[in-house]
Amino acid sequence: MSRNQPASALSSPRFCNTGNFMRLPSSKTGEGLDFIVVGAPFDTASSFRTGARFGVSAIRSISALIKPNNVHLQVNVLDSLKGADYGDINIVPGYIEPTYDQIVEELTPIVESKAIPIILGGDHSISLPNLRAIHKVHGPVALVHFDSHADINDTVFGQKYNHGTVFRRALEEGLIESDHTIQVGMRGSLYDADEHRVAREELGFDLVPAHEVMEMGREALVERIKERVKGKKVFLTFDIDFVDPAYAPGTGTPEVGGFTSHETLAILRELKDLEFVGCDIVEVAPQYDATEMTAFMAANIGFEFISMLARKKNLDK
Ligand code: MN
Ligand code: MN
Repeated sequence: MSRNQPASALSSPRFCNTGNFMRLPSSKTGEGLDFIVVGAPFDTASSFRTGARFGVSAIRSISALIKPNNVHLQVNVLDSLKGADYGDINIVPGYIEPTYDQIVEELTPIVESKAIPIILGGDHSISLPNLRAIHKVHGPVALVHFDSHADINDTVFGQKYNHGTVFRRALEEGLIESDHTIQVGMRGSLYDADEHRVAREELGFDLVPAHEVMEMGREALVERIKERVKGKKVFLTFDIDFVDPAYAPGTGTPEVGGFTSHETLAILRELKDLEFVGCDIVEVAPQYDATEMTAFMAANIGFEFISMLARKKNLDK
């Protein structure tokens, strides 16, 4: 067994572990690694239910169930890649701007090290500092955004920084390229009936609401995403409320009429050829997650992301 493989549950029970993602080793540096899982347990920018600060540990805990072979993508992620769990960034509860600074400070050396970060939230506000750190090394990136909300408000409660304003800020700061940004899965009631038009026409994003995804089908969606980000470095941001609350109830602002867990994973896997430079998985709120399935869904999204990195590395060899 290579040093990087997780202990097999055939010899070591899965509940015997220190709580790292997929039972990975710990590392405070990205040096020599292909990927690193980083916690950002900040949730005071939530507009409704808080609690995503506990999402990180819930995802790590249930991720002990995940095994290293991805049958669909035909990779053993840990034969192909070296990965580790960084632990959590020292966020500042209740204070968003100091938290942003702290995230950028801790994430930048990781991005510089070439280890691809997989950042677990936390509420969606953390995507802004994640993208700031990515931008320092890679410049503006393409963005693939799965969510039931577009998160493009100018202000929420009169504040510029909130989990509902994050992608407007990212665009204003030049962190993402609008003509290579695509938002997928939006649905539910809105205050501004014009929101989808604003995303498309004023911000220049592509936005595919949930009902259009259902009408166009998975293949057409995947083609549209690939076309949008072609040839670009891509950041993937995944708000767990993209998934229907029947499958992922443990989240701060749920929206009905979403995607099954199967549909979600099937869409993700088809993004396997993209040039990913990082991802975040946000908005898991475990106190509304009685069966731990929301956290498990998030852990599996992380696993699919790592699997895509592994497959691409094997093909590029
Ligand atoms: Mn969101
Ligand atoms: Mn959302």
